[in-house]
Amino acid sequence: MSAPILRSVAALREATDPWIRAGERIGVVPTMGALHDGHLSLVAAAEKVCDRVIVTIFVNPRQFGNAEDLDSYPRTEAEDARKLSRFAVDGLFVPDVCEMYPEGFATTVSVAGLTEVMDGVHRPGHFEGVATVVAKLFNQTSATDAFFGEKDFQQLQVVRRMARDLNLPVTVHGCPTIREIDGLAMSSRNLLLSDRARTRAPVLFEAMETIAEGVAAGGDFDALHAEALKRLDAAGFTKVDYLEMRAADDLTLLSAPIRPARLFAAAWLAGVRLIDNIAVGG
Ligand code: AMP
Repeated sequence: MSAPILRSVAALREATDPWIRAGERIGVVPTMGALHDGHLSLVAAAEKVCDRVIVTIFVNPRQFGNAEDLDSYPRTEAEDARKLSRFAVDGLFVPDVCEMYPEGFATTVSVAGLTEVMDGVHRPGHFEGVATVVAKLFNQTSATDAFFGEKDFQQLQVVRRMARDLNLPVTVHGCPTIREIDGLAMSSRNLLLSDRARTRAPVLFEAMETIAEGVAAGGDFDALHAEALKRLDAAGFTKVDYLEMRAADDLTLLSAPIRPARLFAAAWLAGVRLIDNIAVGG
């Protein structure tokens, strides 16, 4: 059954009021649409633990930089609604930009520390945009639970920090990355890859796996890193924004996996920026 599409905060509140009164557990799955199986895995996780599930679709201009792909970002609302119809979704919240940021909107949520590395450096303002919109979505939906993908691991940690710091009464759940059969992490941006670039894209994950396995076996990170850069270059990646090993909890830079560690990468292929991350040593 298709979930009702709610375009205003007023309509959303009308839907959630009885659920709140009944003490139901409300799960929110924030997305920017162009839904794929990665998003749907979050919906499935929400369905399992919540009485009610709200999926939000909002291509948030505040998390895109000036030169970024806001205009070309895929928008497929009808198809998204169709994909969600096989899940028990109680509401699809699809606000427009004026609904989210009415005239005079002046508040920004900024998380220090975790946002000062990786995408925080390469996409200035990105995490302020994310934290601000996620705080709003938590409040608008009255969510008790929220579901985010490990695909965007830094974002997940930023949202967790924000929820803790601001005492938001929301449990943040991290869900594993869903991949295509050839290892490429599913992403709405994969739709922007040409056929030729799509065949080369899995090299990012393969190169990361080689480093992660090598480091976990005691290999030298710098040597493995240099090999991976060569491999990415040979596959046609034009720029690597970062390829780093960091602590999973606070994202401290590591050169050996002395704590639970993850490998993080962002790299450009045929004009598309791909990001991925994997655990080191399982
Ligand atoms: P986006 O629409 O790209 O903003 O993503 C919305 C949510 O889906 C975020 O929590 C992402 O981390 C999550 N997500 C995106 N791709 C995947 C994936 N391949 N596997 C699991 N979660 C994902």
